Amino acid sequence: MILGAIEAGGTKFVCGIGNENGDIIEKISFPTTTPEETLKLVTDYFKDKQIEALGVGSFGPIDLNTENSTYGFITSTPKKHWKNVNLLGELKKHIDVPMAFDTDVNAAALGELEWGAAKGLDSCIYMTVGTGIGVGAVAEGKLIHGMLHPEMGHILVKRHENDTYKGNCPFHGDCLEGMASGPAIENRWGQKGVVLSANPQVWELEAYYLAQALVNYILVLSPKKLILGGGVMQQKQLFPIIIENVVTLLNGYIQHENLLVNIDNYIVPPELGDNAGLCGALALAKNMISKLS
Ligand code: ADP
Ligand code: ZN
Repeated sequence: MILGAIEAGGTKFVCGIGNENGDIIEKISFPTTTPEETLKLVTDYFKDKQIEALGVGSFGPIDLNTENSTYGFITSTPKKHWKNVNLLGELKKHIDVPMAFDTDVNAAALGELEWGAAKGLDSCIYMTVGTGIGVGAVAEGKLIHGMLHPEMGHILVKRHENDTYKGNCPFHGDCLEGMASGPAIENRWGQKGVVLSANPQVWELEAYYLAQALVNYILVLSPKKLILGGGVMQQKQLFPIIIENVVTLLNGYIQHENLLVNIDNYIVPPELGDNAGLCGALALAKNMISKLS
């Protein structure tokens, strides 16, 4: 079965084809410029690919409610040219196959559940810590959408007593994203995270905020795996510090072996690596086909 996949990002659109086993057969990237330019390149790419379905994981916010006239739109993004763009509608004009549409992070969560770190489970959280903080969730086998879609990167966190950084979220100031995204690290310390590897204070503080978020996700959704990716999580020394903070914050309240004995295997990096986004979109397409048959 040949499936199409699009990872629609603010910097580039990665397009590819693959199969129902999560194998990527080929892929290509187009820069995200204007919708006219980028979507022309995308739709031309898929023209002769004979795909049976297309999965699209997109940056957001997006409208996922199929009842709405703006279903499939990128809605209130600050990204120039992309506000209120009918992404799915434009694709449908040129590509005549069933399409599944979701957030980039929900797609990545589904991909990791199908073929990656959460394989064989029916729930997980996927969090990316990069330019922003985005979180996707699968619960009881289904991607969580709710009213619009969850925005778990913007939850409120308790400020560290020694942290005077005011936070850089344009909406909330010191929410999780405002305190712990890549740009927040750079603003607070005056240097990019990548050159701060050897400064333990940076990562102690980063882990302090990320652990609070994970604790909240554990308490609210009880996910069976927590998968942490994105540029900032390249700092692998974060994992043990995050884990230590999670254990301290939960204080033995959740009595499960995942937390009590197996936590190194519970809070983990993604397994799909560079292909996580595209595999996620492929998983959306696969799900769409199973729903139809
Ligand atoms: P995006 O979120 O735009 O898709 P990334 O996940 O690569 O892209 O995130 C980019 C952010 O992550 C930047 O703020 C960058 O400084 C930070 N970053 C990238 N690589 C590293 C690294 N190795 N260590 C620490 N921070 C990093
Ligand atoms: Zn925020």
